[in-house]
Amino acid sequence: MGQRVRREARVEGVVQGVGFRPFVHTLARRLGLAGHVGNDADGVFLAVEGSSEGVARFLDALKAEAPPLAVIDRIEVTEVPPLGAARFDILPSPPGGVANTLVSADSATCADCLRELADPGDRRYRYPFVNCTNCGPRFTIVRGVPYDRPRTTMAGFALCRDCAREYADPADRRFHAQPVCCPACGPRLRLGTAEGDDALRVAVRLLGEGRVLAVKGLGGYHLAVAAASEPAAAALRSRKHREDKPFAIMVPDLAVAGDLCEVDPVAERLLTGRRRPIVLLPRRRAAPVAPSVAPGNRMLGVLLPYTPLHHLLLTDFAAPIVLTSANVSDEPIVFRDDEARDRLSGIADAFLTHDRPIHVRTDDSVARTFRGRAQLQRRSRGYAPEPVVVGQDFRRHVLACGAELKNTFCLAKGRHAFLSHHIGDLENYETLRSFTEGIEHFGRLFDIAPEIVAHDLHPEYLSTKYALDLAESGTVEPVGVQHHHAHIAACLADNAESGPVLGVAFDGTGYGTDHTIWGGEFLLADLAGFRRVGHLEPVRMPGGTAAVRQPWRMAAAYLGATDDTGDLDVVRRHAREWPAVVSMAASGVNAPLTSSAGRLFDAVAALLGVRDTTNYEGQAAIELEQLADPAVRGGYPAGISAADPVTVSGADLVKSVVDDLRAGRAVDVVAARFHNGVAEAIRGVCARLREATGVGTVALSGGVFQNVLLLDRTVDLLEGRGFRVLTHSRVPTNDGGVSLGQAVVAANTTGPVRQ
Ligand SMILES: [Zn+2]
Ligand SMILES: [Zn+2]
Repeated sequence: MGQRVRREARVEGVVQGVGFRPFVHTLARRLGLAGHVGNDADGVFLAVEGSSEGVARFLDALKAEAPPLAVIDRIEVTEVPPLGAARFDILPSPPGGVANTLVSADSATCADCLRELADPGDRRYRYPFVNCTNCGPRFTIVRGVPYDRPRTTMAGFALCRDCAREYADPADRRFHAQPVCCPACGPRLRLGTAEGDDALRVAVRLLGEGRVLAVKGLGGYHLAVAAASEPAAAALRSRKHREDKPFAIMVPDLAVAGDLCEVDPVAERLLTGRRRPIVLLPRRRAAPVAPSVAPGNRMLGVLLPYTPLHHLLLTDFAAPIVLTSANVSDEPIVFRDDEARDRLSGIADAFLTHDRPIHVRTDDSVARTFRGRAQLQRRSRGYAPEPVVVGQDFRRHVLACGAELKNTFCLAKGRHAFLSHHIGDLENYETLRSFTEGIEHFGRLFDIAPEIVAHDLHPEYLSTKYALDLAESGTVEPVGVQHHHAHIAACLADNAESGPVLGVAFDGTGYGTDHTIWGGEFLLADLAGFRRVGHLEPVRMPGGTAAVRQPWRMAAAYLGATDDTGDLDVVRRHAREWPAVVSMAASGVNAPLTSSAGRLFDAVAALLGVRDTTNYEGQAAIELEQLADPAVRGGYPAGISAADPVTVSGADLVKSVVDDLRAGRAVDVVAARFHNGVAEAIRGVCARLREATGVGTVALSGGVFQNVLLLDRTVDLLEGRGFRVLTHSRVPTNDGGVSLGQAVVAANTTGPVRQ
């Protein structure tokens, strides 16, 4: 026996409502230690006393063996003299609960609950709402804080005696599990007049008959059809008015995911982990998936069941199903029962639903892997509202309102940036309501009263208007953050760095400080400011937003008055409108200037016959990436000016594309050479900027870098030249990450940004 010692410790992070106190209790008893553990406003506090070896082992295990839903930010240990304590106690929470606690994200059904679900002898056998301290709904059912049952959507379900006993027993897996329930006391499944297992049986039969099923999930309604059935997938697509956007597929297990797609080890961890995003995976050639599921796409979005209901449905149906957010076109996911019946009646043939209300609509998250790391493209269910921990403190409370498309907002204090769930495109009333209600909800949950409100510079964004309205009240200081600076700052925060870096922000649209539309930007940036040190040469967008929906207009803008374009297919396809669009670009009337990289990709996509009009944002560029042959090396040259800021000629790339097309080169080769050319131009500009500034770290951000071919080539080329390259992982590279960037910039800026 070593010397007797006592240590007090504070544990911060997501440590309440996740079984942390019982875990500490069990661990201390196993090691023969005395002491206590309790919750307070900052997390968990504890004391352990006993042999020095035992205490050392306890402190090692505290983080290493923490319960699955715990996210530990910080453990602070203090040495104190032993008190001669003899037992270990769990201290009750203070009356009225504890404010300021972190709410955990919704979590996939754990292995213990799955065993109960499949065990005919268990009282929760085939119960679609089984959950415990280690799994189940959280964020989507929380109405307020402190987090306890009366402040969740489980408030209306009184615990039966058996559930109450489990809830009160520190040795039970369901000790203080707020959503605990069972068939005797919990929510019920329903389909029409059928309940429980009968409802499931009908659902499975309907799927087998090729019907469209609305299924109430964790964060909203989904629409489901058999993934192998072309008539079913086609019917869903036409009823949903979703012409081309790929549907996600839920598969019964990992083995089936492997039948459909190539699954690398990082993807495997994402698929089977507790957060369960949709994972974008390279599809196998012979994958038995109906063509209408993901038309013309080399990738499939795949996810594994994450609720007990999904597990039952997939086990019984025993084949992959399409599982796509229930909404019409670009509206947000439907989550209220009455709303579901109204809006989905023309789409779904039947509703598999239940009586546990959803408080916050939350879409599925979307991830992919890149060089052994996960990359989130949409950070929502399973991640929100857990904070992104940043490198330095927010000294004042910050609200960042995000961008217009793929909106998220962010509330921040301390070292925590509470990035919201995916709100969506802020262009209709429903989304705007989610946005404003979401901000209020987060403010209450995390006890944040903003002193600073950060916003985009675009005066017409609804998020900007919201921020400026809020600032009108006089108590909140507005800080405008340039869109691409926010992207680069988000990438810095994502990597817990502060710069300076050479930021490459490539996306579709962002309001520039010169009031033109930016989107192909090189910024010398840190968290406090930036200088625009390079960009793509601006071109006209004939027809403004019409050019976003019709990429062929960008081809016209790039080719401009070049004579003899009549032989090009894209010109022939639009022979009637072409001259007018070209002269619109030449005159500049209704044709704003843009340095957007997204629009350059659009122009090339149209030239290669990939797409003349788009049905969703970024579609042309996504399909251009699909077309490119990754085996092709070598890229087209682009002129780089010696001016300050440096400019890159997109027109040079377009000209090479045209030359190769005329030479009869295969389009997959041309598409690849274009990608490689863009990557080489980025390397060329960064090399020149490094000479001028001495900065050797590059941060890549913006929606264009969702293009993995481009990202891969760019990182290769930059690293080959000795650059250190930062890319996104924890937050999206697209506009979903902008609010985080705004928040850290605002925190590092004393007044409004004026560049
Ligand atoms: Zn569980
Ligand atoms: Zn019960």
